[in-house]
Amino acid sequence: MNDATPPLRLGDLTPEAVDALLLDTTPWLSCDECFDRMDTHVEALLGDSEHHDPAMDRHLLGCAACREEAQSLEALLRARD
Ligand SMILES: [Zn+2]
Repeated sequence: MNDATPPLRLGDLTPEAVDALLLDTTPWLSCDECFDRMDTHVEALLGDSEHHDPAMDRHLLGCAACREEAQSLEALLRARD
């Protein structure tokens, strides 16, 4: 059982897509990795609405705990400004 595994078929991957995946070691973060990157990610989001971190986006979509953490961090940072 691994509900977090995305429906990714190897046949869909172009060489460019494979390169993009390999850039970040793996796009599928653990919660620890997600927490490590969360400050940077949320600050980047606040500074640039076009900012995307595919690995973070994917994890936050699938992980309610981290998504809530990111949302409260975002609220905190917005309130600080
Ligand atoms: Zn998580």
